[in-house]
Amino acid sequence: MVIVMNKNATQAEIENVVATLIDKNFDVHRSTGISRTVIGAIGDKQAFDEREFLVLDGVSEVVRITEPYKLASRTFQQEDTIIKIKDVQIGGDEVVVMAGPCAVESATQIETIAAEVKKAGAKILRGGAFKPRTSPYSFQGLGEEGLQQMRSAADKNDLLVVSEIMDRSQVKIMVKYCDILQVGARNMQNFDLLKSLGKIAKPILLKRGMSATIEETLMSAEYIMSGGNYQVIICERGIRTFEKYTRNTMDISSIPVIQKLSHLPIIADPSHGTGIRNKVAPMARAAVAAGAHGLQIEVHNDPDHAASDGAQSLYPEQFAHLMKECRLIANAIGKKM
Ligand code: PEP
Ligand code: MN
Repeated sequence: MVIVMNKNATQAEIENVVATLIDKNFDVHRSTGISRTVIGAIGDKQAFDEREFLVLDGVSEVVRITEPYKLASRTFQQEDTIIKIKDVQIGGDEVVVMAGPCAVESATQIETIAAEVKKAGAKILRGGAFKPRTSPYSFQGLGEEGLQQMRSAADKNDLLVVSEIMDRSQVKIMVKYCDILQVGARNMQNFDLLKSLGKIAKPILLKRGMSATIEETLMSAEYIMSGGNYQVIICERGIRTFEKYTRNTMDISSIPVIQKLSHLPIIADPSHGTGIRNKVAPMARAAVAAGAHGLQIEVHNDPDHAASDGAQSLYPEQFAHLMKECRLIANAIGKKM
């Protein structure tokens, strides 16, 4: 349930509502950044009478959240969440681009790509140091060495860093080098990992699982938020369907659907969403037109020799061209890029 306080509710009245909720075994979450205090109360008991809270001093309204995801829902927070990292804002009126290789392969590789994507207008460098590969014989990533190389390449080019965390044992090392921690499609329902990410103070990029419904995706966001970390960005990266001409089916419609259901930012990854280089640009343009808050795109200086996902990686020139096209589309719908 959501308890909306009066505009002029006093601190003492707010504290009293919080204390009453705690006394009744609710988990209490405060929503910030809006003109009045909104208190989210999460509990698993269905049998309570809203009027118990409506009669408390300073309370304006009590609303039940009927969706299974509570903190992630628009009922809990009407305004869009804007995640601020240094001078980058995700979730506002700017389309933010994360770009880079699938995997960090060497210091030279990541520095070359970082300079290229920066020049084209990306704000965030992507690259995996821990790679979830279908085959145990495929390149598994450089681990901490890769993170060091990516951090240094990003710092030289004034970029932020996003990289994938595969296991809760990696939290400490990931927090040291990254500005955003990515949860990959294969880990979207690794609930222990999600719980541990609820306890840290870094934004999480949560990718939709390849067979996950939108509701399941929002429930995974809820796992992170219920631990106290409200900085979650959702990423549509395509789902597995019966179609075989593309690696995944890019579900562009999930963008407006999620924006209606949730206040969290939603970005699109057309690289994994299609798996084919010449399909990336059309889907990136479509995602921006559909209202995505950002894009994540794989770019490689030598895709033919990439350690992973070369076939879906753009050449730097293609990426620069796509950025120009997306900028035009963003401006046409009243956004910056
Ligand atoms: C990736 O970003 O390189 C990746 C493995 O993505 P996903 O989890 O969406 O497959
Ligand atoms: Mn990849």
